[in-house]
Amino acid sequence: SAKGSGKGTWTLFESGMSEEASERLTLRAELHRALEGEELELHYQPIVDLHTEAITGFEALVRWQHPTRGLLAPDRFIGLAESTGLIHRLGAWVIREATDALRRFQDTSGDHELSMNVNLSPLQLENAWIVDVVRSALEVAAINPRCLSLEVTEGVFLADTATVVDRLQALHALGVRIALDDFGTGFSSLGYLERLPLEGLKIDRAFIATVEERGQVLGAIAGLATGLGLSTVAEGIETAEQLAAVRALGCDLGQGFLFSRPLTEADATAHLATARRSSGRAGLSRKR
Ligand code: C2E
Ligand code: MG
Ligand code: MG
Ligand code: MG
Repeated sequence: SAKGSGKGTWTLFESGMSEEASERLTLRAELHRALEGEELELHYQPIVDLHTEAITGFEALVRWQHPTRGLLAPDRFIGLAESTGLIHRLGAWVIREATDALRRFQDTSGDHELSMNVNLSPLQLENAWIVDVVRSALEVAAINPRCLSLEVTEGVFLADTATVVDRLQALHALGVRIALDDFGTGFSSLGYLERLPLEGLKIDRAFIATVEERGQVLGAIAGLATGLGLSTVAEGIETAEQLAAVRALGCDLGQGFLFSRPLTEADATAHLATARRSSGRAGLSRKR
């Protein structure tokens, strides 16, 4: 019977399945459940003005509070979400949650210029739905589009370039900003930098970690960004020496453990209040 053969097929498949594949199936089912339930959460890492050290915004970083495996970093499940197609729903959840949180951060701090950076997987750009998701998230949370910055990596250049460029143009037309993440690690040619509607480059932390030996490369990247009219964020600043170096090289903004690790929403709210009190006028007069 059909039922019998179905069962036989399943058994054969199961016995031939590697442990890795079965682990993947389990995680995939669990990720489905995580999306239905409330197991995903966002942490927020401050981005600061390198001259005043005032917080200009946050980067939203997803985590999975797994019931038995503990708090999982994105490296553990973003790849899985991409290979199973769950990335579209996961990504939409991140955008809605991040814009809702930005509304709360702006309201509690009184700073309506605060911005939120959200990471996009290259796959999300292949799906036209992303434009509706971003538009409606901005509307629902009543966020000025220019306060939202979408981070894409050079991985977007591996996909269908025409589609990616069109999609980024459509997102840009909503008024949101687009930044190239992990800049310097990938495959982008300078030609792409001109073709994409970019506002900023986030310089990969590999360059910041080695800034003392490789300052010239970083200085050249900062100069290139300035020449193209792009803002620069130095990622992964961990020491005062690195801060002094990236400042001297002309980076505008910075992010890293020296300022703060990614924080829960409650901690980010508290941190914002403390930082604003201590930066005083610098916080109010910062350049945007
Ligand atoms: P990313 O977008 O480059 O994010 C920065 C990563 O560097 C974060 O890791 C952050 O915690 C870490 N970091 C920040 N400052 C420092 C520092 O001073 N030192 C060191 N050692 N690390 C620092 P995290 O949160 O584990 O995220 C890893 C990557 O996962 C992100 O890299 C991003 O590519 C991806 N990701 C995170 N959230 C999302 C999301 O919502 N959607 C998608 N598609 N990808 C995401
Ligand atoms: Mg990022
Ligand atoms: Mg990055
Ligand atoms: Mg990265």
